[in-house]
Amino acid sequence: MAKTLARKKSAAKKGGAKATPKRSAAKSATSKAAKAGGKYVYLFGKKTDGNGSMKPLLGGKGANLAEMCRIGLPVPPGFTISTEVCTYYYANKRTYPSTLRGQMEAGIASIEQQTGKTFGDLKNPLLVSVRSGARDSMPGMMDTILNLGLNDQTVEALSVKTNNARFAWDCYRRFVQMYGDVVLGVQKRPDEDHEPFETVIEKLKHERHHGDVEDTKLSVADLKELVARFKKLVKERAGKQFPDSPWDQLLGAVGAVFGSWMNDRAIVYRRKYNIPTEWGTAVNVQAMVYGNTGDTSGSGVAFTRNPANGVKEFYGEFLINAQGEDVVAGVRTPEPVAELKKEMPKAFAELERIRQTLEKHFKDVQDFEFTIEDGVVYMLQTRNGKRTAMAALKFSMDMFKEKLIDWKTAVMRNPADQLEQLLAPVFDAAEVEKAKAIATGLPAGPGAASGQIYLNAERAVVAADKGEKVLLVRVETSPEDLRGMIAAEGILTARGGVSSHAALVARQMGKVCVCGAAAIEVDYQSRTVKVDGKTYKEGDWMSIDGTVGKVYAGQVKTAPSEIVAGLINGDETAKKTEKFKHFQQLMKWCSDASRMSVRTNADTPEQTANAVAFGAVGIGLTRTEHMFFEGDRIDAMREMILAETLEERKAALAKLLPYQREDFAGIFRALKGYPATIRFLDPPLHEFLPHTQQQQQELAKKIGVGAARIHQRVEQLHEFNPMLGFRGCRLGIGYPEISAMQARAVFEAAAEVQKEGIKVRPEIMIPLVGFKKELDLQIEVVHQAAREVQAEKKVKLNYLVGTMIEIPRGALTADEIAQSAEFFSFGTNDLTQTGLGMSRDDSGSFLPNYQELEIVKKNPFATIDASGVGQLVDIAVKKGRASRPNIKLGICGEHGGDPASIHFFEKVGLDYVSCSPYRVPVARLAAAQAALGAKTGE
Ligand code: ADP
Ligand code: MG
Ligand code: MG
Repeated sequence: MAKTLARKKSAAKKGGAKATPKRSAAKSATSKAAKAGGKYVYLFGKKTDGNGSMKPLLGGKGANLAEMCRIGLPVPPGFTISTEVCTYYYANKRTYPSTLRGQMEAGIASIEQQTGKTFGDLKNPLLVSVRSGARDSMPGMMDTILNLGLNDQTVEALSVKTNNARFAWDCYRRFVQMYGDVVLGVQKRPDEDHEPFETVIEKLKHERHHGDVEDTKLSVADLKELVARFKKLVKERAGKQFPDSPWDQLLGAVGAVFGSWMNDRAIVYRRKYNIPTEWGTAVNVQAMVYGNTGDTSGSGVAFTRNPANGVKEFYGEFLINAQGEDVVAGVRTPEPVAELKKEMPKAFAELERIRQTLEKHFKDVQDFEFTIEDGVVYMLQTRNGKRTAMAALKFSMDMFKEKLIDWKTAVMRNPADQLEQLLAPVFDAAEVEKAKAIATGLPAGPGAASGQIYLNAERAVVAADKGEKVLLVRVETSPEDLRGMIAAEGILTARGGVSSHAALVARQMGKVCVCGAAAIEVDYQSRTVKVDGKTYKEGDWMSIDGTVGKVYAGQVKTAPSEIVAGLINGDETAKKTEKFKHFQQLMKWCSDASRMSVRTNADTPEQTANAVAFGAVGIGLTRTEHMFFEGDRIDAMREMILAETLEERKAALAKLLPYQREDFAGIFRALKGYPATIRFLDPPLHEFLPHTQQQQQELAKKIGVGAARIHQRVEQLHEFNPMLGFRGCRLGIGYPEISAMQARAVFEAAAEVQKEGIKVRPEIMIPLVGFKKELDLQIEVVHQAAREVQAEKKVKLNYLVGTMIEIPRGALTADEIAQSAEFFSFGTNDLTQTGLGMSRDDSGSFLPNYQELEIVKKNPFATIDASGVGQLVDIAVKKGRASRPNIKLGICGEHGGDPASIHFFEKVGLDYVSCSPYRVPVARLAAAQAALGAKTGE
């Protein structure tokens, strides 16, 4: 069985331009495919096989092309080769299913029939585009080829048929350029700053027009010369002739699309966005429509609403007399779509109608691509528009008001991992007054960024690795710059509009971005930026405001966002902003939708108050040891550690007690009645001791102990593996007086605050428990302290004692432990370390490689390893509830603020998650979405 797309002998013999097989041959091929049972090709057009829900099979682009055909929008006919072929291709040494070729021939035949044109014909040639399309759109990752089917004969046919030689040759030179780049691999070398084809164009422009004229100014003779030079370039660099036969071209292009699924850029992108490699891409083959026939044609990209700030306005841009690639590539700076109203009123009206239809049908903001051929509008793509967090929030609130969506959908429309963008600082208004604006561009990614400028991605990454704040400045960006864009605080480009690569990526990554700031002159050679009469070198500071599109010289100070200003600082003006009100509405809906609640990890009254302002309903983790480092408390702590007798230790602890009591009282007050989980001393003692000789001498003087003794004690406490050493409850079991002091501090503070009329609900948490007996010993110490304080202060205190589940033995014996523990809190940091036998602090040397090799899909210290460590959580939940049905279950590890992990915790049925104060809104949104998703099965 032939498993390549090699043409069958009978078809091959005909050769040359007329490559299309007879219809009957195509038909018999189709019926064979049907018998073989594998459908690989899905038509769209007059007859449409697919629909919008088939994204896994047809890719996002293919599924939505089908959907647009179904709702009667004008789409050029074509077909989609399914993602199953991509899977097959990689599973079978880059070969194809045997029936694919025949199905493709039938597909081409169907397009021919609908357009009245014939592939490779010498009178009326059909040209097609070959377009990739994964399930999720991957901007700039996969490459499209336009005008496929042209060769030295068909170009003449097209020229005669359209009576437009300039147009025909413009198509041809574009085709050779794109095909040479994408399929034949004629691309920029590492030492080149420009694409080689662009260099050829520029050279010709300078030779023949003495300057940098627009592409539209090139004559037929220029274009013919370009085609010849391009082919020569291909021959030189690729070492082979440019293929003439349309079918060879088509098969080569299809192969290139599948091949590009594994190119570096695609792999980097998938890793960043956690897109599984198995998904694969589809390929779309579609009849060309021409935006480059003259001044009544053009191409554009538009959004049904503004994706940067969320405003309900027709937003986008177009280029007259251009093919779509020009708009996306940012080669020429396009005009705003509103201009079309004047220039082509009929087409504009049609686009307005389409805009309405799209939103009514998809019920979400659409990002669509269109081409106007001689005044007639064609739709080439639509998808849910990528948006900034700010736009997502406004879209969701506005569409709810317009009754396009319900409140639950509105909640789902706000991406949880982007929400932090709304809390990011903006430029301080007073500082902006003083700053010097040196250029203006398009506000493509809202927010404020100050950084040292770098002009290429590599150097930007190096600088960011050194800890510099980086602003990536480019003429325009391309997918090769992705790493630099990820590393940078913000992105500034001189060319390109709102649909340029820079703008696209900024929207998706939430990067601050100003693009198309035409006044800046970027010189890659000298690594300088000239603007406003001044020259800036790499390493100099600039600032950009991506909300309004301004560029400033130097560093500009930032101020908190309206939401932070309103919630944390109580700023009344901020509270009146739409952004603030929308945010509060969203958070209220989150509370309505959630099953789990959200607590915070906080060690100070201030952190606690901030978290409560963000909507936390308690503390999930107070790390008491953090309190020991402040001021001269550390001295008392060290005295305690150095003590040689129980009496000495108790004396030192007595000095620590008032500090702890004061801290706890402050936290209880800030909590206003919400519960506080307080973890007893956890880290190994040597962490508190001075390690250099000088520090040891200083301490010796301070506390009146010999330096030699301090040195000796430090040596004594040294451990080979402190993470698994004398720490956690092992400390409290070794020195019960430490736990007794901590318990007393908690209860004395509770008594004090309770007397002020504030409800206090301490939940004392014993860390690192693996044996029930460990917990029992500590519980007794706690109860004893409680009894004493209640008697002394004549109060009744409500408190719980529970444990952290953070080592596998604790999880596996959770039923026994739950007989004593009134709550569990999963310490997923240690549970991951001990579950994987992998030290978080040492994982930097091998984990990146593990992710590269996909041994682990995500960093397990950021997103919970659901199938491994998650099982330990699941077991502990089940066993814990079995022996204590009303046991309270929470999680306080780093994972408590990670949306993907939160979805997992919803699934296993925890009562709450806990995270750092500024993560609280993210966790609330993720918890709400997890609950809503669980209901709808998403
Ligand atoms: P991307 O995924 O990078 O957006 P597309 O496949 O959408 O790539 O193609 C890029 C551009 O090429 C589109 O915006 C569209 O304008 C143009 N294009 C694609 N197919 C056709 C076609 N059949 N006719 C005219 N233009 C096309
Ligand atoms: Mg597109
Ligand atoms: Mg721990």
